[in-house]
Amino acid sequence: MHYVIPLPPQAALPVLGGGLFPIRRVFCVGRNYADHAREMGADPSREPPFFFTKPADAVTDRSRIPYPPATANLHHEIELVVGLATGGADVDADAALALVYGYGVGVDLTRRDLQDVAKKGGKPWDMAKGFDFSGPCGPLARAAEIGHPGSGAITLAVNGQERQRGDLSQMIWSVAEVLAHLSRLVTLAPGDLVFTGTPAGVGPVARGDRLFGRVDGVGEIDLAIV
Ligand code: MN
Repeated sequence: MHYVIPLPPQAALPVLGGGLFPIRRVFCVGRNYADHAREMGADPSREPPFFFTKPADAVTDRSRIPYPPATANLHHEIELVVGLATGGADVDADAALALVYGYGVGVDLTRRDLQDVAKKGGKPWDMAKGFDFSGPCGPLARAAEIGHPGSGAITLAVNGQERQRGDLSQMIWSVAEVLAHLSRLVTLAPGDLVFTGTPAGVGPVARGDRLFGRVDGVGEIDLAIV
């Protein structure tokens, strides 16, 4: 049987040292740093992690990100991103890091005004979180090279001014625990990406802003909003 329209392009991220990581699905953890949960008016107690998604092709390594339509309050959220080499269901936390191919530095761009309306109305976050180019991400560093970072600074500057600073060790749920929880909701698969949450300091960006994000021991991301 033939495809009736051309096959869509495969979303992918470059890998440091060569090659492309094909993206299957994109899962994101909400409120995984206590100080960010508090700034969003939530209780940072250790309730189970919750997830939302972005389309695979919302993730991009382009350095110029178009300011999206339908918002007047686009926010940056710097995040550690995890790419999976293998999958599984009901994975134990102490076995979960074996699924990881590598790590990158991403920004969970958020139309905060649409999210606020959705929260108030008990409506889905999809259009607040899953718009075109909403998941810029730098190249993946292979876990085989860098290991599995459990601590290290995670920072974001806008136009040279630091806006977000945290440490991976402040994650309420570790990468291994996030993967274990997620694997009880879906069967994880090769190519899945997970955005692991953001520290405090989220805020608006405007056209012309330059974003520079960094996770110690993982990498960097350098973006212009255009
Ligand atoms: Mn986020």
